[in-house]
Amino acid sequence: MGRVNLHSRWMASTYETPRLPHRVTVVGGGFGGLYAARSLGIDPEVRLTLVDRRNFHLFQPLLYQVATGALSPGEIAQPLRSVLRRQRNTTVILGEAVGLDPERREILLADGGPIAYDTLIVATGAHHSYFDHPGWASLAPGLKTIEDATEIRRRILIAFEAAEREADPERRREWMTFVVVGGGPTGVELAGALGEIAHDTLKRDFRAIRPGEAKIVLVEALDRILPPYPPDRSRSAQRQLERLGVEVQTGTRVVDITERSVQIVGGGAAGSAGAGGSPSEIPSRTVLWAAGVRASTFARTVAAATAAETDRAGRVIVGPDLTIPGHPEIFVVGDAAVQPWKADRPTPGVAQGAIQGGSYAAAVIRRRILHRPVQPFRYSDRGDVAVIGRLAGVTNIGWLGPFGRQSGFLAWALWLGIHLLYLIGFSNRLVVLIRWAWSFLTHGRGTRLITGTTLLPPIEEPEPPVLAPVEPGDLPGSAAPGSASAAIPTPAAGPGRSSDTVTATGAAGPGPSSDSEFG
Ligand SMILES: Cc1cc2nc3c(=O)[nH]c(=O)nc-3n(C[C@H](O)[C@H](O)[C@H](O)COP(=O)(O)OP(=O)(O)OC[C@H]3O[C@@H](n4cnc5c(N)ncnc54)[C@H](O)[C@@H]3O)c2cc1C
Repeated sequence: MGRVNLHSRWMASTYETPRLPHRVTVVGGGFGGLYAARSLGIDPEVRLTLVDRRNFHLFQPLLYQVATGALSPGEIAQPLRSVLRRQRNTTVILGEAVGLDPERREILLADGGPIAYDTLIVATGAHHSYFDHPGWASLAPGLKTIEDATEIRRRILIAFEAAEREADPERRREWMTFVVVGGGPTGVELAGALGEIAHDTLKRDFRAIRPGEAKIVLVEALDRILPPYPPDRSRSAQRQLERLGVEVQTGTRVVDITERSVQIVGGGAAGSAGAGGSPSEIPSRTVLWAAGVRASTFARTVAAATAAETDRAGRVIVGPDLTIPGHPEIFVVGDAAVQPWKADRPTPGVAQGAIQGGSYAAAVIRRRILHRPVQPFRYSDRGDVAVIGRLAGVTNIGWLGPFGRQSGFLAWALWLGIHLLYLIGFSNRLVVLIRWAWSFLTHGRGTRLITGTTLLPPIEEPEPPVLAPVEPGDLPGSAAPGSASAAIPTPAAGPGRSSDTVTATGAAGPGPSSDSEFG
């Protein structure tokens, strides 16, 4: 297919599709690959093979809910075989694509088997990037896969458990400090959910610590959070986060991460560590990474094999028809590609970009089979929605005019509706709806399971359990107020309790008394 001017309406196809049935191989069953596969599912001329290294489609926008114990992994994933089982022209292969031979038109799987194609759709997405600090990966997990989400959930819950056992106030403070790096939608949603966990969900679950005293810091290198949103939406999101006790530090760069701290440089919240450009340290045992993405390894393999250009993140720069220049038979869509949009801005790396890219590639293949001209890809911006805890969020939906700029409850309700609509699988939609309703009514997060092998790290100075306070009337003959409780240490009276509270230092950071605000 020839290169065309972005503004021209139709492009004549120079790519002949002689073979019928036409063999289409899709690599990646995320948003881009799955929507391409579903669009081609009823074409009798097409024989479709979908390859993914996982046997399920993952709804990444809800991963943070798994990471924060609101949903279970199975509720946001759906087996690809089950999603595509009614497509009689489709074969699903579990395998990892590791090589491409564009001359022979074959991809190579890690198990050694080649898969031939007439047209290839590469939709292998992206993973997080630690810029030039690969060593940070184990210290600050990112959120991209189910395994990442359960690992983050484990670290968050372990931190509260360790704080409950740790007697030393400084070390307890380290356990109860959470740093989220990256103020994009994922970082904002994670920080908001952490605020909610600390101030609401876990409020009554511990005896030695007050979870509401946890310090949650969101660090963003740019001068505001949610950079793709207009500035007033960013300010609104920051206010809503601060109401949840999150300290937002913008204009702040992370320069080092260790097992017990994060080193930052730059602006910072007024009066906070790191203000004024000198490096400073946030003691913390739990650092979560929500900054920077890099194209998948296979996308970079494809670029190398076809001499395609890539951007700094390794994403393949495709033409107006989403194919690689000189290779009209290879589409790259979604997060793996730089899909055209505006003159100065490519399609954003969001689900809609991948869905529209995948659907477009399928439409081009169909039109080629019919020997019809095709239109260049046009991204239609449906807007952005981010949720910030219970009944809070921001929207930026341009086509809805002023109504598209919502905060608070309306934004939250829109977010709920949109995510339910796009979640794959009717049963998942129903279960998630019921779970959300139950969590809303009970303020609970039902899947707070700590899984994995190391259950609790060694506690340097463990202390005996602080027993639950005894209420008047709990014990036979203890009706007199205070008579029994005086004998048993309470959180307020327990050893070292009075001096070791961890107070959020953010503009609106709640002290102990503000717990009830979130109750
Ligand atoms: C935590 C998080 C929250 C997000 N929130 C939102 C949001 O609220 N709204 C929004 O619009 N977008 C959101 N996004 C972005 C959105 O999820 C992505 O833009 C979208 O998933 C990209 O789709 P894709 O098909 O390009 O890639 P993916 O959905 O990542 O799918 C890639 C697929 O390729 C497979 N794969 C990769 N390499 C290989 C290989 N070598 N061989 C075989 N298979 C392979 C993977 O297993 C995966 O199934 C979020 C992303 C994350 C990580």
